[in-house]
Amino acid sequence: MPRILAAFKKKEDERTLFLSISSSSHTGEYLIGISLFKDKVIIAHDCPQIKFRKRSCKHAYLAYKAFQKHLWWIDLSDKNFVIKRKDVVLSPEWIQIPIPGTPPDFGENEGGKEHVHSA
Ligand SMILES: [Zn+2]
Repeated sequence: MPRILAAFKKKEDERTLFLSISSSSHTGEYLIGISLFKDKVIIAHDCPQIKFRKRSCKHAYLAYKAFQKHLWWIDLSDKNFVIKRKDVVLSPEWIQIPIPGTPPDFGENEGGKEHVHSA
């Protein structure tokens, strides 16, 4: 199963999220952009599942679940979903944030390292 490896957002833009999601075969990862624009949830992503089935995929579903947790005060279920097939490239303007829905102290993006802060 794919899983979210890291989450990023643009500065001062709560309505756009970028997610690094492992591919189903765990041999690579996808960067997915997801943003709320008016009454649309726009997902920027491309992968073989999208290409051949011309509809959603597990990556887009994971991105949506995380996005709903990110924008927990907004109900996304009545929004229109639009998938734009394009590759997303990491930008230096993005800042990494804890994966939505994951307690920060148990983030999975640190390779399971323990954080010890001595006073
Ligand atoms: Zn996909």
